[in-house]
Amino acid sequence: MQKTDSKIIVALDYAYLSKAEAFIEQVNPDLCKLKVGKEMFTRFGPGFVSQLCKTGFDVFLDLKFHDIPNTVAKACEATADLGVWMTNVHAQGGQRMMLAAKEALTKKQTKTRLIAVTVLTSMDKQDLELLGITQSPSDLAQSLAQLTQQCGLDGIVCSAQESAQMRSQFQSDFLLVTPGIRPSGSEADDQRRIMTPVDAIRAGSSYLVIGRPITKSDDPVGVLRTINSEISDLSNS
Ligand code: C5P
Repeated sequence: MQKTDSKIIVALDYAYLSKAEAFIEQVNPDLCKLKVGKEMFTRFGPGFVSQLCKTGFDVFLDLKFHDIPNTVAKACEATADLGVWMTNVHAQGGQRMMLAAKEALTKKQTKTRLIAVTVLTSMDKQDLELLGITQSPSDLAQSLAQLTQQCGLDGIVCSAQESAQMRSQFQSDFLLVTPGIRPSGSEADDQRRIMTPVDAIRAGSSYLVIGRPITKSDDPVGVLRTINSEISDLSNS
């Protein structure tokens, strides 16, 4: 049976493998997809990632590659060999880098999706100015999103606050993968510009990256079920 395309990608930001495993044992691929970032990848390696893929989860390997085109293309090929569902690069690596990455995955005939980070949400106008960039973060994000689409990638990582504007420019098959999501009533933690799951989907987000409100909850399955049902109510209404 085909698994449900859950819109929730749980950020597995655990420092201990045992904690990640305890979480994974409670959930299943119909409830959520899983994101492995630089911390867990560096600690536990590619074996951990391919094992997760073998257990049936859609895995987003969030390593944000940014290097010369050949190196990024080979790194993307390696992620596809692990069996991941989605991988990513920095759009600021430029057109030739993104084209090379896309071509490498297309040649492999893999289903691994490739998305790009436009501007890190931690960067403000001043940070960009220090890099010699005079565009505002949102203008730069818009132009990099356009470039990403022209290079044939499957979508971008952006703030849910940008989803509505991005969605007005890009059709629904261009994926908007958005972190900074907080179910109503949960802690903001260190996230500044947050949005609820329902608002983010309404604004045009394709997938929601959610970490601590789920991983730190006493009832992660309960939280996942609630969000999944709120979101599916939206598509049925
Ligand atoms: O726990 P929380 O829901 O804040 O986790 C969000 C996840 O999304 C983390 O893995 C974080 O690194 C990632 N992320 C983010 N903001 C970005 C890009 C990625 O929060 N702009």
